[in-house]
Amino acid sequence: MDAENTLIKIFNGQIVTPNGIIKNGCVIVRNGFIETVAEGNPEVNGAVEIDAMGQYVAPGLIDIQVNGYDSVSFCLEGAENTSASGNELTVSDVKKVTEGLWKEGVTTYFPTLTTNSQELLLKNFSILSKAMNDVSIRGSIPGFHLEGPYISVIDGYRGAHPLDHVRTPVWNEFLDLYKAAGEKIILITVAPEIEGAFEFIRKCRSLGIVVSLGHHNGTAEQIKLAIDNGAGLATHLGNGCANNVNRHHNPIWPQLADNRLMISFIADGFHLPPEMLQVFYKTKGVENIIITSDITSYAGLPAGTYKIKNGQSIEKTVDGNLCFSGQVGGLYGSASSLPKGVSHIMKVTECGLLNAIQMTTINPARLHNLNDRGILEAGKRADLILFAIENDQLLINKTMVAGKVVYSIDE
Ligand SMILES: [Zn+2]
Repeated sequence: MDAENTLIKIFNGQIVTPNGIIKNGCVIVRNGFIETVAEGNPEVNGAVEIDAMGQYVAPGLIDIQVNGYDSVSFCLEGAENTSASGNELTVSDVKKVTEGLWKEGVTTYFPTLTTNSQELLLKNFSILSKAMNDVSIRGSIPGFHLEGPYISVIDGYRGAHPLDHVRTPVWNEFLDLYKAAGEKIILITVAPEIEGAFEFIRKCRSLGIVVSLGHHNGTAEQIKLAIDNGAGLATHLGNGCANNVNRHHNPIWPQLADNRLMISFIADGFHLPPEMLQVFYKTKGVENIIITSDITSYAGLPAGTYKIKNGQSIEKTVDGNLCFSGQVGGLYGSASSLPKGVSHIMKVTECGLLNAIQMTTINPARLHNLNDRGILEAGKRADLILFAIENDQLLINKTMVAGKVVYSIDE
């Protein structure tokens, strides 16, 4: 996104910085970048003023796992696509998702393609790549996440990924996807136990791609070797896992135990019980956790009943649970965007706002070398949000990307 040639002063806010929350502070933005973060309300000649009274000012949220939003699915499973061209993903769909996420306070996200045919992955990666030419949205999309298709074939571990398209890695096949994506695949989720996984991980690392372990039933040894070979993250730990596992030997313990591995998890209040989130938080610590939404096309839609392709009905509840009709408490997918993860992790771990924001901004930025964002400090790109907390929920009032207001609740 092109930086605006402007001077903006956001004042009267509670500013969320890595060193603490400044009770009454201001952020001065010049030409799309943060110039000053300070206490008080200094005089700034010629600045456009934004009064943040009663609100927090924090870095824009970063979501590394977004499958879709508001009826758009990047992989076309789930909700029917409402784009003009019917069931094909389009550049305007990508724009719709990006603008929808701005309303949720998400200023950076990784469109995520999941296990599918090579043909569809090639096609949709090329569309995502084309969308990056759109100057109005490209600042919010540093790259893409490929979740699968090189994952476990076993039910439970495989999750909702279609068995027909799960496969073992072939480097040239992946390179075709990488090229179709304009070399913008920056995160890949793989299973460590599949044939050729370690060599594949090394080759991905040589391209600078972050490798995450997910949808797998790796042994402790396989997980260790995957990390030795460069895997740095676990994808939605505790999900993408069978319901019944061996109490001693299962993939969760070794991923929790290895300090070299960061973890991501879905903190929407439905995917994991509070005790599991508490243990994950205590074990890994705030530095090594990334909260993801893993949202599908049902996020951003009103509560109600929706028909899925096979004719079955699913229900989205008022509090954002997505389940088969009549099975409230069951899981169909995720429909809660990142602010819900922030408020829920605060509630179950009592980690405080500063730490919750770190797990949705600083940590994903650090892992992916997005050095221009994720922190409110001088020199960073002015990606920020203004929000209030009401009834334990984040209420996003304003979102700014590269110094430009892209969402305002009262407009
Ligand atoms: Zn998954």
